Amino acid sequence: MKPDNHDDRVICPTCGKRMVPRLITYQGIVERTVCPFCAQTYQDFTPPEGPSFLRRLVIVVIGSWFAVRIVLPLMIWLGNWLADLFR
Ligand SMILES: [Zn+2]
Repeated sequence: MKPDNHDDRVICPTCGKRMVPRLITYQGIVERTVCPFCAQTYQDFTPPEGPSFLRRLVIVVIGSWFAVRIVLPLMIWLGNWLADLFR
């Protein structure tokens, strides 16, 4: 694991200072750690699946909306056509 477990200080990649990363939490979930000196993000814990899942949901919703807009009129048209045929 880590070579020095007692010292949790790290070198900030932005300002080069030895620091303890400060936890930034959002709604009880650790979002990222930042350098207390220059406030730059040291580690980002936000999952990349979050936005892509939402995007996928939007695509599914829009896709089903288009399906309803195309399939439903087609079925109504087909129903009318069959009704005319067997009248
Ligand atoms: Zn820093």
